[in-house]
Amino acid sequence: MTYDVLIVGAGPVGSTYARLMAEKGYKVGIIEKKSRIGVPLQCAGLLGRQIKEVNILPSKLIINPFYGAYLHSPSDRILKVVKNNPEAYVVDRIGYDQFLAELAVETGADLFLKHQVKDLNFKNGIIHLKNGKKDFNGRIIVGADGYNSVVAQKLSNGGKNNTLQAAQFKVDFGKNLFDLDYVHLYADASVSPGFIWLIPLSPSEARVGLFGNSDYHNLNKYLKDFLDNNPAFGNYSLIKKYHGRIPIYNPKKNIVKDNVILLGDAASQVKPTTGGGLIMGFKCAQIASDITSKALENDNTEILKQYQSQYRKNFKTELKTQLRVQKIFKSLTDEDLDFMFIKLKEEGAEDIISEYGEMDDQAPLVKELFKRGIIFKILPKILSRGISTLWK
Ligand SMILES: Cc1cc2nc3c(=O)[nH]c(=O)nc-3n(C[C@H](O)[C@H](O)[C@H](O)COP(=O)(O)OP(=O)(O)OC[C@H]3O[C@@H](n4cnc5c(N)ncnc54)[C@H](O)[C@@H]3O)c2cc1C
Repeated sequence: MTYDVLIVGAGPVGSTYARLMAEKGYKVGIIEKKSRIGVPLQCAGLLGRQIKEVNILPSKLIINPFYGAYLHSPSDRILKVVKNNPEAYVVDRIGYDQFLAELAVETGADLFLKHQVKDLNFKNGIIHLKNGKKDFNGRIIVGADGYNSVVAQKLSNGGKNNTLQAAQFKVDFGKNLFDLDYVHLYADASVSPGFIWLIPLSPSEARVGLFGNSDYHNLNKYLKDFLDNNPAFGNYSLIKKYHGRIPIYNPKKNIVKDNVILLGDAASQVKPTTGGGLIMGFKCAQIASDITSKALENDNTEILKQYQSQYRKNFKTELKTQLRVQKIFKSLTDEDLDFMFIKLKEEGAEDIISEYGEMDDQAPLVKELFKRGIIFKILPKILSRGISTLWK
């Protein structure tokens, strides 16, 4: 079978790109190894408000909108961030992945479940499948097959994406504990550059998780200790455990070769500070769809190189800022973090964060904190001396 574009992976990003291309009238095929899309859940399902601009999100899949966050320091000093409108949504992520794949199919894409790609041939665009299934052919191949992408490994001659581990529990606290307007984020030097999230699903239930540079076993233990040692939580029951991996954003990663491009987690298109990949993946799906349709129209795969340059240009400032913020956080001790929270409160930063803070674009807030000189006041002295080296 020959397609204009063949997409490996019916994750949310691959399906979104498939729909965009099918809408333009191209012959689109999606090859997915799973029999049930989106299962198992490997996500906190938290999407910043930009989701409404970058993709379709049916309201029936929104579990809860959030109007702000409580940010907790290691010794539980708290900063409260408040917005007038929903800043983020927690969604039914399995339902969302399935919705996006169905939408792609309704728009005209062919979806092949239980088809696992084992190899591909650059230039002639032939995809080889496991278990002797019939090969497919695409004028352009899009690797949207997640952090462990076969396509990415092929494109970089065997190199794998670097990843961080993530662990998450669905917890029933057995009593009403949460204001549904707020998520909770806990800073802790021992999991830095990661952090712990607590995302209320109802007044008594939450997704509690973290990502970090440790193995799954340690992260699980860490999460359990976190729950056990917080007196406010009391007796709780674990409803379910999840784990997954988050690719580490790599600004130098090659995401185009011949007639093949990478998209989403496969391309490490993930925000460094939060590990969130959906909003960025959806924005990149739009760029990919603009460039790949141009390449198809002109029958010229050289044009695909513009995908990489456009992606780098669009995200350069934001991702550079996030990498720097991450580098600074990684160097802070629990004491430093507590100091920082105290200073931020003294400097009235809750209002500034409430005004300028945004889940998906963090550069404007950092710029504002610099402009007001707050960055140099909040970072411990030792760090402000060395900030010029860290901020490189
Ligand atoms: C614990 C955790 C919490 C997270 N929380 C958030 C969050 O709150 N917000 C957020 O924005 N992001 C979050 N993320 C990140 C987010 O889940 C990913 O960025 C997102 O899933 C990337 O989508 P994707 O379509 O690129 O890849 P994936 O969702 O990984 O989809 C890839 C698809 O490709 C298929 N596939 C893989 N290999 C093959 C093959 N060889 N042949 C055929 N098919 C194949 C897979 O089966 C899968 O369906 C979280 C991640 C983790 C691990």
